[in-house]
Amino acid sequence: MSAVDIGESRAVVTGAASGLGREICLGLLAEGAAVAALDKDAAGLARLLADSDGALTTYQVDVSRQDEVSDAVSRAVDDLGYVDLLVNSAGIYRDGLVVKPLDDDYVTMPLAQWRTVVDVDLTGTFLVSREVAVRMVRGGVRGVIVTISSVSRAGNAGQGNYAAAKAGVVAFTRSLALELAEHGIRAAAIAPGFIDTPILAAMDPRRLDEHVTRVPLRRLGTPREIFAGVRFVAECGYFTGRCLEIDGGYALDS
Ligand code: NAP
Repeated sequence: MSAVDIGESRAVVTGAASGLGREICLGLLAEGAAVAALDKDAAGLARLLADSDGALTTYQVDVSRQDEVSDAVSRAVDDLGYVDLLVNSAGIYRDGLVVKPLDDDYVTMPLAQWRTVVDVDLTGTFLVSREVAVRMVRGGVRGVIVTISSVSRAGNAGQGNYAAAKAGVVAFTRSLALELAEHGIRAAAIAPGFIDTPILAAMDPRRLDEHVTRVPLRRLGTPREIFAGVRFVAECGYFTGRCLEIDGGYALDS
């Protein structure tokens, strides 16, 4: 197993147009890495390209679509030469109770609401990791695959779809770590708590405030603090298969 020096790395980052993915791209670039930025949001990718003075390459892709992922990863790796760092940050949530009281009756979570989240957060992680991993193996590259999970992986009322997907990526990561260790490739997850990114904008501010009062450090985390986790995972060559929790202590008693 070897460490990946992020300043020397050739990285593919998904969810690159916003929030954590964007910060990770900019952080990697500032360290000297070569970066391929993947996202479905073309306008966000254009902003990232402008803000990085054209120092990275962008690829518009829906990570839940096999054909698009295959094409985008193929082009990204061709452009980079090889890839030794993948960060899976693309993700969405569509919250709702599985069984919800309504008037005198109950309604249930539509299958489409379940599938949309699982397709992006779990299947998307599988599709991108698979395309990158096979290229690492074929190329003899001793790289690392980092996937952004969530504290919700422990289970959370109103997030059955998201929690299942985020627990799923941790189990997938453990499996990948076991399968790829013989090739010198590592895989790890990061489970953030509440981090100050645009994804929180859709949350009811009062609910968010309640959550923050339950964070021992009493504040939101910053995208930079998640980048610090990516750096740790990349540069610690003995870290594999594990999930690093960066949550201000939120999940300590779960
Ligand atoms: P964000 O600001 O919304 O960024 C996510 C990015 O992923 C967006 O650019 C989004 O594009 C893109 N994306 C969504 N679906 C996609 C798809 N099918 N294909 C390609 N790209 C897609 O959210 P964030 O806070 O950075 O979240 C990044 C990751 O961290 C997610 O996996 C999230 O679940 C996880 N996470 C975040 C927090 C937090 O508090 N921020 C906590 C725990 C875990 P659109 O904007 O067009 O949808």
